[in-house]
Order: sequence, then structure tokens, then C-alpha cells
Amino acid sequence: MYIGLSGGIGSGKTTVTACFAKRNIDIYDADEMARLAVAPGQPALTEIIQHFGHEVINEQGTLNRQKLRDIIFYAPEEKLWLENLLHPIIRDKMFDAAKASTSPYCLFVVPLLFETKIKYPVNRILIIDTSLELQLERTQKRDGLSRQQAKNIIDQQVSRRYRRHHADDIIENNGDLNELDQQVEKLHEYYLKLSQS
Ligand code: ADP
Repeated sequence: MYIGLSGGIGSGKTTVTACFAKRNIDIYDADEMARLAVAPGQPALTEIIQHFGHEVINEQGTLNRQKLRDIIFYAPEEKLWLENLLHPIIRDKMFDAAKASTSPYCLFVVPLLFETKIKYPVNRILIIDTSLELQLERTQKRDGLSRQQAKNIIDQQVSRRYRRHHADDIIENNGDLNELDQQVEKLHEYYLKLSQS
């Protein structure tokens, strides 16, 4: 059984993922796959160089992420080009890797699950939700951002309301870590049951 996990910045995806990993559930992370997809020698990196030129490459032949981010920040059509190239590759890499999974179910952590145009063939969607105040506080603290910077990032993502509406399961991350782990335990037992039926 495949579970797609998503949530806004600072909602607690990484924290929740660790709770599932502790229970020996296999995790596939879109951000990690994204890094692998553009490693030297990968076809996607070759396409990126052909499209954007060698200015997006460091001396060591690795992708200069900041440079690429700067380019696409001011050019929505270039951002779209990059997403159209990378998103299907990232998804396919995740599902390929999951073929070797031996856990009763596995998790696909996809921060942009709702923002991407491509579909993820998952059985259920789990989201982590946090009040805006806590989300701002935790993001600011973790990333050393101002309140406005954190707010700008949140404003670029889909709304909490949209996520909640499209979720099968919701973890409410408004309490302490102990409370969070208890919610994961309940869901874990539920998923185990579902994966056996
Ligand atoms: P995401 O991966 O969704 O961006 P994280 O899991 O990194 O979010 O959580 C954001 C920050 O908030 C991290 O520093 C994390 O340690 C902290 N955090 C998450 N959940 C809680 C919680 N229930 N109590 C206290 N801190 C939390």
C-alpha cells in the first residue's frame, strides 16, 4: 500500500517521517530524489545544461542550485519547463525504488503533492496540518527567516483548506512531539490493518 505524505513548509513532514521510519516503514522522499535526478551524469542534468547553458553548472560539474533558482524566480515559463522535466522523473524514481520495499506499506514524502501537475498513484493521501501561527514560528526558527519571509513562502503554496479537503488522513501537529508520535502510532496501526485486508 502506498501513502502520499504532504504538508506546507514547517508543518512537520520531516518530523513525522522520522516517526514512521522508527516503525520500520520505508520512506521515499521527493526532495532526495530530486537531488539524485540532477547529479552529474544524469540525463536530466544534461537537458538542463542544454536548456540553460553552462552558467548553471559549478566548476566541479554539479548543478548550481542557487543560480537555477535565481533564473526561474523571475521566469515562470522557465520554472514550468524545469518542473515538466523533473517532476515525472522524480516520481518515477520514487516508485521504481519502492518496488524493492519490504515494509507492509510505504510512504512517499512529496512536499509539492498538490502543487505539481502530475498524478501520484497512491492509495491514500496523508497531510500534516499546523496552525498558521505555529507554522510561521517553527519555519522562522528552523530556517532563520523573518516572519514576512516565512509568510511569503507559505503564500506560494496551496492553502491549508485545499490540502485538508483533498486528504484521506490528517495529522494535527499543534501539540508537542509526544502527542505527534501518538497520532502516528494510531495511523500506523490503521495502515497496518488496511494493508492486511
Ligand atoms: P517540514 O519538514 O514539514 O518542513 P519539520 O518536520 O522540519 O517540517 O518541522 C519544522 C520545525 O518544527 C522543525 O524544526 C521541527 O523540529 C519543529 N517541530 C515539528 N513538529 C513539532 C512539534 N510537534 N513540537 C515542537 N517542534 C516541532
